[in-house]
Amino acid sequence: MLALVKTEAGPGLQLQTVPEPGIGINDVLIKVRKTGICGTDLHIESWEGFAVESITPPLIVGHEFVGEIVEVGANVSDFHPGDLVSGEGHVTCGRCRHCMAGQRHLCAHTVGLGVGRDGAFAEYVALPMTNIWHHWPGIDEDVAAIFDPLGNAVHTALAFPVLGEDVLVSGAGPIGLMATAVARHAGARLVVVSEPIPFRRELATRLGATIAIDPRERDLKDVQAELGMVEGFDVALEMSGNAKALRTAIANMAHGGRIALLGLPTAEIPLDLNELIFNQLTLRGIYGREMYETWYKMTVLVRSGLDVRPVITHRFPFREYEAAFAAARSAESGKVIMDWTAAA
Ligand code: NAD
Ligand code: ZN
Repeated sequence: MLALVKTEAGPGLQLQTVPEPGIGINDVLIKVRKTGICGTDLHIESWEGFAVESITPPLIVGHEFVGEIVEVGANVSDFHPGDLVSGEGHVTCGRCRHCMAGQRHLCAHTVGLGVGRDGAFAEYVALPMTNIWHHWPGIDEDVAAIFDPLGNAVHTALAFPVLGEDVLVSGAGPIGLMATAVARHAGARLVVVSEPIPFRRELATRLGATIAIDPRERDLKDVQAELGMVEGFDVALEMSGNAKALRTAIANMAHGGRIALLGLPTAEIPLDLNELIFNQLTLRGIYGREMYETWYKMTVLVRSGLDVRPVITHRFPFREYEAAFAAARSAESGKVIMDWTAAA
């Protein structure tokens, strides 16, 4: 089969012919239809940040996908060839305290698809049956391809109640954009998006932002006044990993405000803890998605009208992966999809 492979410790990816993955008795084999490019893939491609420490080539990259089951192991009775599925990219141990309690997102022994094991940028991908989500009828295939990052957005946006609340989203990358739509769908009163890139601010407005501001040009206190807010934001979704964005969010929270942190900082961020203590703020780290409460929520939200399709700005056949990665890196993009259906 053809696959996008990190062949050696250094920049670049190669489209190579490699053996199809074998499956064990508890696994399923999936013929990949569409994949999404994530920031993680960009780091692995350019060989920077976490990738240098955690990736051992050769490795097939990619973890956001939708595909069709073509084969199941002898123990698998819940999934069948022909099922349209996506995969939870965190393969957990199944035996630790949290896994045993059904809290698999808290497993400390997670292996990442396309990070610690061969991934989904390929004609076929294999996963344990415990990592498979069978899509309900009526889910758009391109949206199904990005259920993984949509899950990040849903898990973060619903980390705290947003019904009737005023929400700040800092960072309108693909995940911040989808979180904007989720917060709006979940009944937030105001959703203020802070994002320096104009193209993404425009997308944020399409996805339901009340207002999308450039943090270099607008002070959030002024924005609050313009919108008639008096006490500050009730909930903030930190989706940028940027130090200034986090400090600005903290400074603009209402007393008792809650901040969900998804964005990954690239360096330590010094904070004034007095501000957190006296304002009685809650900061909560969010990693991945809940298995499978978030997958259920995504499904019912999409089926009840949540429309994240505007976040998908580019589609490429997988052979044009270089152009696809360039688009994903550019400021003028949301989510970038690669199509594997024309592989033969
Ligand atoms: P992205 O890099 O596309 O988006 C980040 C956005 O933040 C960009 O549009 C950038 O212009 C914007 N930004 C930069 N400085 C800013 C500032 N001062 N104020 C406001 N916005 C600013 O990333 P993404 O794919 O949308 O993911 C969002 C974040 O979540 C990234 O940091 C990513 O690494 C992280 N992430 C975390 C998890 C997790 O499980 N915790 C999973 C996936 C991604
Ligand atoms: Zn575990």
